[in-house]
Amino acid sequence: MPAVSVSSADRVFVLTGAGVSAESGLPTFRAEDGLWAGFRVEDVCTPDAWRRDPAAVWAFYSARRAQGQSAKPNPAHLALAELEAQIPSRFFLCTQNVDDLHERAGSANLIHMHGELAKSRCEHECGSPPVEDRAVYAGLDDVPRCACGGRLRPHIVFFGEIPFEMPRIEREISLSTLMLVVGTSGNVYPAANFVHWARQAGARTVYIGPERPLNAPAFTEIVEGKAGEVMPGLFRIDN
Ligand SMILES: [Zn+2]
Repeated sequence: MPAVSVSSADRVFVLTGAGVSAESGLPTFRAEDGLWAGFRVEDVCTPDAWRRDPAAVWAFYSARRAQGQSAKPNPAHLALAELEAQIPSRFFLCTQNVDDLHERAGSANLIHMHGELAKSRCEHECGSPPVEDRAVYAGLDDVPRCACGGRLRPHIVFFGEIPFEMPRIEREISLSTLMLVVGTSGNVYPAANFVHWARQAGARTVYIGPERPLNAPAFTEIVEGKAGEVMPGLFRIDN
């Protein structure tokens, strides 16, 4: 069994991606055919799609919400929550996933760089903050409006929009001594660059996933396997 040692001096930055959600049965965007759960992403996940057909966008994300609520955290989510519990002040999780499976597994110090399914926000930049929203909308008429008159949109980073919290992510990477990249193939930017930033900062970099990532040479260690199968018991904490 491979082991990844985590010392008392280590500060851990974790990046998780679609593979981790897929192991809980949630379909994810596939770069090869441009489809996500059977939808073409340009029809449902872009600023242009929102302008053209907000009903289609909400139909898609309502379906994702319904599916997300029935999914359960898998052993990879639980292994990360367990690692965090052992080194709470030296652990930071950045996920590309929009579901809340990490939270439901017990992770606390995390950000969703591509947004959250369980939140909505005003379509305009009017200053209203995102709101908790798990509603599955039957049609556009059911979608609430903001005080400014704008329609609520999913609190999701559409393709072509800038990911959330990049300054904080960059700061956390620069402080980290160990980066774990789990279930993400290295073809979505800027996340695919994180490993390079970590290397520049002198960190060890470990990849965990079922196949070698596109950016494999950037890793000091590669653990090949499904995250839910290889992560339980993977970490050796030397305190
Ligand atoms: Zn507004």
